[in-house]
Amino acid sequence: KAKEIPGNSHLFYQPEMAVEAFVKSEIEHDLGRALEEGQFYLEYQPIVGIESRAIRSFEALIRWNHPVKGIIQPDLFIAAAEKTGLILPIGNWVVKTACTEAARWPAPTGVAVNVAGDQFKDRAFVNFIKTCLDEAGLAPGRLTIEVTESIFSIDPQIICESLADLRAYGVRIALDDFGIGFSSINNLRRFPLDQLKIDRSFTHAMLGNQRDADLVDIILQLGHTFQVATTIEGIETEGQLEFVRALGASEAQGFLISRPVSARDVLGILSREPAQTGSLSA
Ligand code: C2E
Ligand code: MG
Ligand code: MG
Ligand code: MG
Repeated sequence: KAKEIPGNSHLFYQPEMAVEAFVKSEIEHDLGRALEEGQFYLEYQPIVGIESRAIRSFEALIRWNHPVKGIIQPDLFIAAAEKTGLILPIGNWVVKTACTEAARWPAPTGVAVNVAGDQFKDRAFVNFIKTCLDEAGLAPGRLTIEVTESIFSIDPQIICESLADLRAYGVRIALDDFGIGFSSINNLRRFPLDQLKIDRSFTHAMLGNQRDADLVDIILQLGHTFQVATTIEGIETEGQLEFVRALGASEAQGFLISRPVSARDVLGILSREPAQTGSLSA
């Protein structure tokens, strides 16, 4: 049962290393078939207005229903998908599926889709998104594309043009996980954006850590200055929600409001939600 790591036989045997190496290569191998075998599906997590607590949109989050290992979360396979290039077909599937499913929701409920930087390297991607919107019959203003700051390491010219093109079409652009990574205020100046999503690592620490609280405050002020919406991720307690509400955040997302739910449950939640005014009971 001791799995041999090729080329590493001079290392001392450490079971956890072997398991990790085995799992990684196995994931890459199995990923190659997962799309055609229909093993991916999307869950949706509500994003609410912070004052009204009414649902404004849902973030689409990919899940992999592996035939042997069961349900695998994206943190375990998105990196492998990026490494192997499979992120391109998988990412296209996500955009198409999210647009199709969101088109069944009552307007103006929106959908947010996470997009990896590599997907923008192909100039056809922007047209692919527009085609998905058209075919689904989803108004472009109901789609938000979430990108992380890592995309700015790709040719900034291409990124800038692609984001501007999408925005001109009516699609909203969100900068995800803001505050970690290569945050630069310059990115806010250079790139066309509609929304900042503050990483949940800040939410987690802000009530017990003055520096994190100050940073959240500054990021919210930045959003205000640059006239973009601010969404705080990872809200798990009423205390956290009240704290960012008082600081002027515009939207909230997190387990306090709802965990990610199935496409089917979205329809149930929305049918109980008095259109854009009531509070979320789910
Ligand atoms: P993200 O875009 O920042 O998504 C938010 C993550 O935080 C989700 O994890 C969500 O389940 C989790 N979360 C939400 N509220 C809470 C909370 O209150 N507490 C805690 N502890 N966690 C919360 P998930 O679904 O595992 O996704 C992880 C990451 O994988 C996402 O982070 C995103 O970067 C990536 N991802 C997910 N779906 C896709 C996709 O379709 N394409 C790409 N390229 N990346 C994706
Ligand atoms: Mg996201
Ligand atoms: Mg995020
Ligand atoms: Mg995050």
